[in-house]
Amino acid sequence: MPTDDPVRRYPALRRWLVALLLLSSFGGGAGPAAQTPTARTQVRKMRLYVFDCGVLDITTAGVERYHLTTAEVGETRMSVPCFLIAHPRGTLMWDLGVIPDSTVEAQGQAGARSNVNATAAAVVTRTLKSQLAQIGYAPADIKYVAVSHAHIDHSANLNAFAASTWLARPAERDFMWAENNPRVNPSFYTDLKNSRSVVALDKDEYDVFGDGQVVVKSAPGHTPGHQVLILRLPTTGRVMLSGDLYHYPPERALHRAPPDNEFSVEESAASRVRIEEYLRKTKTTLWIEHDFAANARLKKSPAYYE
Ligand SMILES: [Zn+2]
Repeated sequence: MPTDDPVRRYPALRRWLVALLLLSSFGGGAGPAAQTPTARTQVRKMRLYVFDCGVLDITTAGVERYHLTTAEVGETRMSVPCFLIAHPRGTLMWDLGVIPDSTVEAQGQAGARSNVNATAAAVVTRTLKSQLAQIGYAPADIKYVAVSHAHIDHSANLNAFAASTWLARPAERDFMWAENNPRVNPSFYTDLKNSRSVVALDKDEYDVFGDGQVVVKSAPGHTPGHQVLILRLPTTGRVMLSGDLYHYPPERALHRAPPDNEFSVEESAASRVRIEEYLRKTKTTLWIEHDFAANARLKKSPAYYE
């Protein structure tokens, strides 16, 4: 029977409308469904998402720790990014912020504040969880978790990823629960202490997904098990996330010695030499995680690098 109803007449249009309806009821909008993502986003090409996990205000004495003057540094603030790598074979969170989400949530709009030490004051206005939810992930979806090192400003949300497989260097693990260690806050990672899903990284490099696209590389000194992350992004190219191999770009440009309060100044200096050689040889770009000006120019999630 002929009909003038275009929806009944054209099955393709009907299917499209049904799809649109389903989409709007499953997390596409801003309704409650958006709070419980079920997307488990499957990517065809690797992506790198950069999240805003806060800012550190650094005092003059704090800047001078890096054998630099405030004039040489210019911008004294430091960025605190967190990163998600979404790979066709799974996901990796790298560095977990400076103030736990629960504390940030309790503070509301003005954000949470916390002194990392006498020279660094953190301000965090957005939770990591909310930024993950915005792109369809919950912490429980994340396959692997790793930190460049366990200092307070890189580990705040580790507890949320206790169900992920933890990529840990044994030396860093020991450091994390060492007694009287003022550089860490073990309450940030209580739930990882007895994690049954740990990969002990005891070699220089660890290829996370087995295809050379995401490699964790040892760079000790700042802490005993400090490490960097090397990404081979399909379009952006080769990028290294520095951890705290450097904090301010002039440390690198002006060849300043590592700070005196490194776990091992000698190891740190040796790691810098070795990593610089690696960067040169492989034509890899170094992203200094705490570089405020460079971070300000980065695309932030929900945008991504691929
Ligand atoms: Zn740091």
